[in-house]
Amino acid sequence: MKTRAMVCHAPGTPLVEEWLDLAPVGPGEVLIEVIASGLCHTDLSQLEGTAAPYPFPVVVGHEGAGVVREVGPGVTSIAPGDHVIPLGIGECGACRNCRSEKTNLCEAFLADIATQRTPFSLNGQPVAAYSGVGSLAQFVVMAERNVAVIRKDVPFHLACTAGCCVATGVGAVLHTAHVEAGATVAVFGLGGIGLNVVQGARLAGASRVIGVDINPRRHEQGRRFGLTDFVDARQVDAVAAIQAMTGGGVDYAFEAAGSVALMHQAFESTRIGGGCTVVLGVPPDGHVLQLVPFQLQLGRTVQGSFMGNVKGRSQLPGLLDHYAKGRLNLDDLVTHRLPMAQVNEGFALMKRGESLRCVVAF
Ligand SMILES: [Zn+2]
Ligand SMILES: [Zn+2]
Repeated sequence: MKTRAMVCHAPGTPLVEEWLDLAPVGPGEVLIEVIASGLCHTDLSQLEGTAAPYPFPVVVGHEGAGVVREVGPGVTSIAPGDHVIPLGIGECGACRNCRSEKTNLCEAFLADIATQRTPFSLNGQPVAAYSGVGSLAQFVVMAERNVAVIRKDVPFHLACTAGCCVATGVGAVLHTAHVEAGATVAVFGLGGIGLNVVQGARLAGASRVIGVDINPRRHEQGRRFGLTDFVDARQVDAVAAIQAMTGGGVDYAFEAAGSVALMHQAFESTRIGGGCTVVLGVPPDGHVLQLVPFQLQLGRTVQGSFMGNVKGRSQLPGLLDHYAKGRLNLDDLVTHRLPMAQVNEGFALMKRGESLRCVVAF
């Protein structure tokens, strides 16, 4: 079959609508109609070529939600009509990493990254699917292990955010750092990911959640997600301010802006003797984080996580239970909704810092 999709043909060029050929649904695969898709900063980095792991032409989008329209032979856990989120990181449930409590990085995902398999093609030439998803297409074909079945009572334009920014931010707190009640937390970068770190910290019962940003608008927005303090990094030295506010540093610092310089600041704002830094942002290709070993020997640690270390099929759908129970704010997260034809404007809003999440739909 064919599907409409927004395609980027070369770095720095606008997305254009194309009718792509879509591979048929094979054994163990699922056809999904994408109903809503959130725009993420890593999509923009791919489009601009600054952090671009996929070749062009490419369909970006990895924060989609939709409805299953067809299942292939052998699919047992998913049925037509199910509401689902297509997953960049699948969960086969059987490999060593899936059976481990430590990681969400299914070994099949590691193989998927290497092969960059895509269901899309144009005039016989492959078109890449960013993050193995490509949710700026109306239809996608995914392996069963790469599909999370979600509850049906959360609207698609809100549910899609669980596919990246909510999983990455809330997951980093609950499934990577394991922030404990009463802990102090700093968050560098209060975009869609950072504000989900903030609300994850609130869920965990953190005593203080300090946000750092250069956009003063984020102060008021952050309060709605559980921010207790705001540091305007244009006005003050963020590290000194956090050290002073907490009497020696926070228990946990999260970097959610994709800047190596901010990763350093996050690290230096943690407490000596146990402070933990979690690296979430994706810096431009080639940027390297350097650390003085003695800083680690002082009991500070650095961790990273991919999609918040949330297992895609068994844990990610549960994030939406928090929304249903009023403990997670998605309504203020989705600041803009646009028709797919205006997707380029959606990315422009992101670049200007005007949106938290812009959700698009065909
Ligand atoms: Zn993302
Ligand atoms: Zn696995």
